[in-house]
Amino acid sequence: MNQRLERITMLAGVFVLLGSLQFGASLGGATVALPVALLLGVAATWIWLHFELPIGAVWVPPLVCAAAVLLSGALVELSFRRDFAEWFAFIPAALGSGVTVAVLQRAKARCGLCHRSLASQDVVFTCPRCTMTVCDETCWSFEHRRCQLCMQQRVPLLPPEENWWLRVAGPRFRHDRCQICHSTAEQVDLRSCPNCRRPQCRDCWDFNNGECSRCGAALPDLPASLTTTVPQLVTNGSIRPI
Ligand SMILES: [Zn+2]
Ligand SMILES: [Zn+2]
Ligand SMILES: [Zn+2]
Ligand SMILES: [Zn+2]
Repeated sequence: MNQRLERITMLAGVFVLLGSLQFGASLGGATVALPVALLLGVAATWIWLHFELPIGAVWVPPLVCAAAVLLSGALVELSFRRDFAEWFAFIPAALGSGVTVAVLQRAKARCGLCHRSLASQDVVFTCPRCTMTVCDETCWSFEHRRCQLCMQQRVPLLPPEENWWLRVAGPRFRHDRCQICHSTAEQVDLRSCPNCRRPQCRDCWDFNNGECSRCGAALPDLPASLTTTVPQLVTNGSIRPI
């Protein structure tokens, strides 16, 4: 059975159960039926969202809960007993369901950039430059290992301190050109690759995540956020490394 059909079947099962329980509660009169409708609205909606069954829009669960409760109430009313107040059991059912949707949707993990809700098994990355957690679909650049916002805004990562550059790449080059952007030593701050000695300007070192475009060697002592960036998996609203 395909997964979508499986989920729709599970959803149908939840509502058959809800209808049966509400039917039983309605036999006990409005004093039982109304609070039970509230609880069933909460429980059915919680199962619906927790197992990520197809939802469509946020107003769908309250509507379906209300309809199921109304149907059970109507069956009892028309065939067994008359208790006018029972007709209103759909109100607490819709209310319980609506509040549950609001609470669970708010608690859901979201992409820091496009703000879409993240489902279980979605892959996210924590950007080494801005520390934002973003989705892999539209907001992460695999090639450049940063979020799309840091890409657009050219957010720097490497420390600006001269001491750090002296330690990892030695003193500034006074001749030659950057092997990436071809700017001259007068225009930019050129630093040589510790491995192949080819010069790259500080901006290009930064844009290239501290790696030499010629030999691929990385500068030593790069910020930890850059070297520990790994894909993470969303599991029931929390985020863990894969
Ligand atoms: Zn996103
Ligand atoms: Zn970023
Ligand atoms: Zn350059
Ligand atoms: Zn190199």
